[in-house]
Amino acid sequence: MADNRKTFVVLMGAPGAGKGTQAKILQEVLGLPQVATGDLFRENLKNETELGKLAKTYMDKGQLVPDEVTVAMVRDRLSRPDCVSGAILDGFPRTPAQSIALNKLLEEFNGHINIVPFINVNQEVLITRLQKRSEIEGRADDNAETILTRMKVYREQTAPLLNYFQERELLVEIDGDRSVEVVSAELQDVIRQAS
Ligand code: AMP
Repeated sequence: MADNRKTFVVLMGAPGAGKGTQAKILQEVLGLPQVATGDLFRENLKNETELGKLAKTYMDKGQLVPDEVTVAMVRDRLSRPDCVSGAILDGFPRTPAQSIALNKLLEEFNGHINIVPFINVNQEVLITRLQKRSEIEGRADDNAETILTRMKVYREQTAPLLNYFQERELLVEIDGDRSVEVVSAELQDVIRQAS
């Protein structure tokens, strides 16, 4: 039976794992837009919208923006015409409540999760990468204290989702401590196999 539902790839991984870099490559290869909640919040911040002002108070501390606000933003983004065939979700869902909300959104938009690649990188490497990013990009949420908070938030609120996706046989782990090209090639392989 033909499956005409929209395709969603959910990229999982801790801050600094390379989700954004990989999602940008994948969006070219797969022809699906990257929907990165962190980027959407930063855009709002830059444009000084009300949402941006609210998000900033959480982002600066390395905490998560409340679920309700985040889900509403994602819903709005997924309603745009470029998501007609689906999207690559980068940084969403990040909490169990967001995961439940995503299931509702998938029903609403007639979509399904094709695969959940988990880019696995150990903590020391992640911290080094985030420190470098802080020097190069000057991101306020990449300073030493915030990095530790972001790691803690990831461990406590986001990592439990890995089990959930594993149980649904959607999770595929990829060793992220390799070059961008090698990780990308493997990602494309596993996504192709899942399609
Ligand atoms: P990122 O660029 O994905 O590392 O996200 C940067 C920051 O944006 C995070 O530390 C959070 O404050 C916020 N953020 C991004 N995605 C989410 C999300 N799904 N839920 C809540 N907050 C988020």
